[in-house]
Amino acid sequence: MIVEKVVDDSLNKLLEVKTDDNYTVESVFYRGDTLCVSSQVGCPIKCSFCASGMYGLKRNLTYEEIISQYTLSKEKGFDIKKIAFAGIGEPLLNWENVKKAFYFFKEEGLKVSFYTTGFPLKNFKELLSLPHNGVTVSIHSVFEEKRKQLIPKGTELEKLISLLKEHTKNLSNRKRKSYSIAYLLIKGVNDSKEELEKLSEIANELKLTVSLLKFNEIEGIPYQTTTDEDYEKAFLFLRERGIRVTLSNRYRTRKIGGCGTLMVNRFNQTTS
Ligand code: SF4
Repeated sequence: MIVEKVVDDSLNKLLEVKTDDNYTVESVFYRGDTLCVSSQVGCPIKCSFCASGMYGLKRNLTYEEIISQYTLSKEKGFDIKKIAFAGIGEPLLNWENVKKAFYFFKEEGLKVSFYTTGFPLKNFKELLSLPHNGVTVSIHSVFEEKRKQLIPKGTELEKLISLLKEHTKNLSNRKRKSYSIAYLLIKGVNDSKEELEKLSEIANELKLTVSLLKFNEIEGIPYQTTTDEDYEKAFLFLRERGIRVTLSNRYRTRKIGGCGTLMVNRFNQTTS
């Protein structure tokens, strides 16, 4: 693997890394300490709001290719303290390689967190038992049918909730804080009071933080970002119901390296 290109937008550093068979995948160094790594070339989940899944899955990254994103980034001088499995791909669908990379990163003294749809459930269960430093589970809609449009191949919400409930029921408050529910707010899609009310019930039941994310507009994806006003309203709506809510930070909303924007073969779409 080699670094093909580094795009620096002053907040995020986007690394294009090229595999031996000429795919490029992306990693993002952000917040001055965290590297977001990819786990697959493309993504079979094909979330309808995400550029990473637009062309489906090409193949899994090998263990070596996952850790190369870290070693190559270090060679670029990035002072990495944390790894987030939040780049291209669903980590649970390349589980053996991701798990091996997880232990490598832990041995390097890094904090490692995961962003996942919880699919497949069997691997999600195993992930929960790892000595991770954070797991964020994508919900994005509380209504199964709509959720299927947003996350076509994710685990059913009911199964996710019952597993999370079972796993988190005896956790200390400190450990519980390392789990959260991701809800990507998309204008006119999942921002109704009805959705948010139900979301607050689920979060209250699980006693988990909601990571309320702002949709980043992406060429070729037919959704619109919510207005700042509506975003704040949703935040207050949940807060008023006793939910701990975190918001998209400035790194996550960038055009370069923001949530959902990472792509396979960005600069060479002919081979994608
Ligand atoms: S959001 Fe994650 S799981 Fe969904 S398509 Fe994008 S990379 Fe895959």
